[in-house]
Amino acid sequence: MKMNPLNSVRPLATKTTPITEDYEITKQVLGLGINGKVVECFSKKSREKFALKILSDSEKARREVDLHWKASGCRHIVNVIDVYENKYHNNTCILVVMECMEGGELFQRIQDKQEGAFTEREAAEIMNEICVAVKYLHDLNIAHRDLKPENLLYSKKGTYGVLKLTDFGFAKETINKDTLQTPCFTPYYVAPEVLGPEKYDKSCDIWSLGVIMYILLCGFPPFYSNHGLAISPGMKKRIRTGQYTFPVPEWQNVSQAAKDLIKGMLNVDPDKRLTIDQVINNNWVARYTAVPQTPLHTNKMLKEGEEMWPEVQEEMTRSLATMRVDYDQVQMKPLDKSNNSLLNKRRKKITP
Ligand code: ADP
Repeated sequence: MKMNPLNSVRPLATKTTPITEDYEITKQVLGLGINGKVVECFSKKSREKFALKILSDSEKARREVDLHWKASGCRHIVNVIDVYENKYHNNTCILVVMECMEGGELFQRIQDKQEGAFTEREAAEIMNEICVAVKYLHDLNIAHRDLKPENLLYSKKGTYGVLKLTDFGFAKETINKDTLQTPCFTPYYVAPEVLGPEKYDKSCDIWSLGVIMYILLCGFPPFYSNHGLAISPGMKKRIRTGQYTFPVPEWQNVSQAAKDLIKGMLNVDPDKRLTIDQVINNNWVARYTAVPQTPLHTNKMLKEGEEMWPEVQEEMTRSLATMRVDYDQVQMKPLDKSNNSLLNKRRKKITP
């Protein structure tokens, strides 16, 4: 596993010189996001092609760039090369130069394969790669919280392309009880429950991994709404209660090991859901070369459901948004319930 933890310790040195001194910015749009657009640019020095994400300055944009920078250095995370802060007509913009991902989205690539050419072993290898990215983040106490198919891109077309995770727009630094308990930061008066169940943010990523693994193995998602309306109450309930099945014929020949792993990741109780270490050490992921080369229905089902794919993506986006809100609220509850004397004093001051 190639890792370069440099960026996690090297502070982000944002350049304030004009980006145009170093890069030639083109009009070629690579993608549009909710927070800004991504265009093609070229290094003036090396003529190498890069992707440039343009964000208007905000607290949120700064957090995104800061966490993406810290996460750069993992083979399976899109690398940030340079960050600029430039003014345009009095507006401050944050310009993020990233490696250019030219190989397209994960599921497009699987769909383009010949029927029957995608096997359970290949699915396991892809899961291993995504898990490397998620473990890298979780070890740095960063939860991605927006892990979905459109954020998994290949660096190049063809077999040399490497799968990488991107888009840190919802990433969050998770509280780490260990660091809070080190001698130089000893909040001895804070009850453990006040520090909160830190793993809920990370468990959001594990749920995503479960959904992605499910789609990898059959070509359709485990949860979908009945009528394709905005977040349907039915779908929300099925997610909350973990109502999904492994229908035949698509799942008939898929190994029990794979199904058990999915169950562990889609557990409705985030406390019982597997952690990234448990997933990456699971035999099906860790020893993917020993996974059977069973042909899957995935590319056939992806092709058949092609016109439904935008909706599948929107549904995953909505589910993740709901989950982020729900888990943020869960994390607050212990604070209300806790009987911490310092907090009680503060509360008395606040309540008239
Ligand atoms: P947002 O956070 O606003 O959703 P993203 O970071 O997801 O923005 O980028 C939007 C789109 O731009 C992506 O879906 C993808 O198509 C394209 N894109 C993003 N980063 C790159 C990159 N490094 N190389 C090529 N295309 C990219």
